[in-house]
Amino acid sequence: MSSHQRVEIQPETMHPALTRGGLDSFQRLRIEGFAHNLGDFLQTNSGILLPPSGVVTRYQQLGSERLRSMADRSQIPRIASEIGRLSSVLTGSKITDNGCLVNRRIKPDNLGLYLTSLAEKDWGSPAFDGPNEIDEIRLCDCEECLNTRHYDFEFSRPTLRERRTEFDIRFYTKLPSGEIETIWGDVLPRPDISLAEFWGFVKKCYPYVSYEKSVLSPTSVSQIRFIQQTGCWESWQYYTKPDNGLNWQYDGYGRLNTRFKVKHINPETGEIFYKNRVGHMLAHRVVWGSSGRRLLDDYVLNHLCGYKRCCNPLHLEQVKVGHNTAHAKKMHEAIRALDQK
Ligand SMILES: [Zn+2]
Ligand SMILES: [Zn+2]
Repeated sequence: MSSHQRVEIQPETMHPALTRGGLDSFQRLRIEGFAHNLGDFLQTNSGILLPPSGVVTRYQQLGSERLRSMADRSQIPRIASEIGRLSSVLTGSKITDNGCLVNRRIKPDNLGLYLTSLAEKDWGSPAFDGPNEIDEIRLCDCEECLNTRHYDFEFSRPTLRERRTEFDIRFYTKLPSGEIETIWGDVLPRPDISLAEFWGFVKKCYPYVSYEKSVLSPTSVSQIRFIQQTGCWESWQYYTKPDNGLNWQYDGYGRLNTRFKVKHINPETGEIFYKNRVGHMLAHRVVWGSSGRRLLDDYVLNHLCGYKRCCNPLHLEQVKVGHNTAHAKKMHEAIRALDQK
């Protein structure tokens, strides 16, 4: 471990979009001593960064040991043999130069199902909905790869994929001054100003400051992406209405996941308490609060950019309830008029 080694990390090399796991995954690997800078990562042809091969070696060893002991403990022969089979895949696998785990002797009928169960057993988490399109979530370029760290199960969740409402560039135009004008008439600051604000915010977070002083957890920060065209800070985590209408949390707003213990930020007011809390919170309110702003009583936050997943405080204004509904009406009318053209 080189925990005392000082590592200079440039903000641009830490952009959350660099790995799908993002800043969070990088930080975790860094804490565990596997990666000290981005050069330790393996890069695919498509530019995605994969964990260093040291991670794969350890995963292979620990994973097969864990699976073997699970198989030994299982009272049900059918389950024991299934777990045993998974463990033998890991034991008999070869690690390629790219950190891919390949087993030429075993060809699973359903790779997706196989990888999901491998990942669940390995990580001890039942959190996967099960990948449908294995090609879609593969991060590496190797079709027969059995390294679950080369698959992005989180992104595969059908619910998450459906949640994606695409950002529509037709709604925004660039003024000669560099500012962005929305088709409903609001003017947003130049994207470079929003970018400076973004890095200012990220630098208030771990690892630029100590974990205790960080305004958001690395997980939360990794869930925010910067959109070059408009300067929006997009959160990729948000709720949508599934076909069965069961998700009452639908509203299209970005959420920040604070599964890990962080300071409690009151999602209503943005006030920060020194208390632990776990859950999803409205991204724009959390960022508004944690960037040192305070939401006044009886006021709500209105998105000038109209993009509900954005949490750029420069794209938000606090307004009296009612004003935001009038704004939304104006916005939707402009979008409808554009669609009819
Ligand atoms: Zn791979
Ligand atoms: Zn925005």
